[in-house]
Amino acid sequence: MIFTPEICRIPDQRMKPFIDADEIWEHLNNTSPSAEQVRAVIGRSLAKNRLTLAETAILINANDPELVEEIKAGARELKERVYGNRIVLFAPLYIGNKCTNNCSYCGFKASNNEAVRQTLSDDELIKEVEALEDNGQKRLILVYGEHPDYSPEFIAHTAKLVYQVKKGNGEIRRVNINAAPLDIEGFRIVKSADIGTYQIFQETYHPESYKHYHLGGKKRNFEYRLTGLDRAQEAGIDDVGIGALFGLYDWRYEVMGLIRHTNHLEACYHVGPHTISFPRIQEASAINFDGKYRVSDYDFTKLVAILRLAVPYTGLILTARESVAVRTEVMRFGVSQIDGGTKLEIGSYSETVNEKQDLNREQFQVNDSRSLNEIIDELLSDGFLPSFCTACYRLGRTGEHFMEFSVPGFIKRYCSPNAMLTLCEYLEDYAPLTTQEKGFVVIEKNLLDLEKLNEKVNVPEIRNRIERIKAGERDLYF
Ligand code: SAM
Ligand code: SF4
Repeated sequence: MIFTPEICRIPDQRMKPFIDADEIWEHLNNTSPSAEQVRAVIGRSLAKNRLTLAETAILINANDPELVEEIKAGARELKERVYGNRIVLFAPLYIGNKCTNNCSYCGFKASNNEAVRQTLSDDELIKEVEALEDNGQKRLILVYGEHPDYSPEFIAHTAKLVYQVKKGNGEIRRVNINAAPLDIEGFRIVKSADIGTYQIFQETYHPESYKHYHLGGKKRNFEYRLTGLDRAQEAGIDDVGIGALFGLYDWRYEVMGLIRHTNHLEACYHVGPHTISFPRIQEASAINFDGKYRVSDYDFTKLVAILRLAVPYTGLILTARESVAVRTEVMRFGVSQIDGGTKLEIGSYSETVNEKQDLNREQFQVNDSRSLNEIIDELLSDGFLPSFCTACYRLGRTGEHFMEFSVPGFIKRYCSPNAMLTLCEYLEDYAPLTTQEKGFVVIEKNLLDLEKLNEKVNVPEIRNRIERIKAGERDLYF
């Protein structure tokens, strides 16, 4: 069994709030787990069960360093057993930073008079996408402030425009969205642009703290935001991403909030979130943040391992907010997607001047400023298989993480071959010679590994398609 039914004090109802802060704290306060309990919970996760709130609290409350190491080892094992060595790459593209809200942690907040406000025109957007395509990107997440200018029609227009931009062999094959919550009709309009995931971060699941940080604008309404992705589901967007901004409140509580949100969506829509994001607050222009709940690297790596174990079949996204060292460690716990070559200043992908970071032009500071190729090169050296795959979304295979997790052989038959094919395209079209050579060695190693498995994987057909890509064909997938 994979879904674990959970009885919570607030019953799950579509489009109704579901967070009970006292209940979450009771779970966290009543647990002083023994080593046996912690090991039993890790075992349940490795047996492919999603963890309950009570079980997640047991992992959170395991403080003995040796047990924390066992939790991390469990996460690494789950990743090895289930997901293998693929890492999907994407880039964020900021469309506009006008904003009517006043989130105290964000450089785009309305009250920040220092912020340089800008919205990409169609021509500027095309230039940005061409620059991203020239780097080899195939998957983007478009990011918007909350402002009347960024209506559902505008969001849909920008997403459609991105799909239309083709430069050389470049094209964007999946457009995800990170924007304010909409009403059902608004979500329908955005869905019509054929978007991938709609992402909304709750920021904090703690209602009182939420009020403290959100000082004005529509975003002040905790419950409207909390039920935002319910409305997306009602509008037919079944691919949604949740997240919490770590550092606003106690990290232990936020992990529980993310699990509660996951089981709410499962209970109401029979599908959990496609992805979970767990950004940590970074320096930003005019930021107002006392640092009381700042999350240390030690706690951060522990919490990512706990999330991996708690929701074994959900994609985990790690962004360039984190340093290279932290990224390298937590990728081993089963992070499935990272961004590469990230620039947050509006219009900066196509700019050749102004390479220096300017906090007044971006939402927050980035800590991993490596280029996409530098990241790919390093992933290859570390034994990962970088992927730009978009096959499931384009073939209507929704719930791909769930399939990867639950359908035997799915990764070997689809994900790994598609990772190799999209990596091959990247190596042919965009990589410098050294990365190209390294990349083809990694592809060959992965092919040999698949051959050795002796399962029903058509390795000769993968080889055949790789040759077709080398001969000039593009966009081949299983
Ligand atoms: N304006 C929309 C909203 O608030 O949902 C769209 C996305 S906002 C531009 C993207 C996310 O960036 C926010 O949801 C928040 O979690 C995160 N963010 C804001 N300020 C940040 C900071 N100082 N450090 C790290 N992440 C931050
Ligand atoms: Fe606006 Fe989003 Fe920043 Fe809040 S987090 S100020 S809503 S851009």
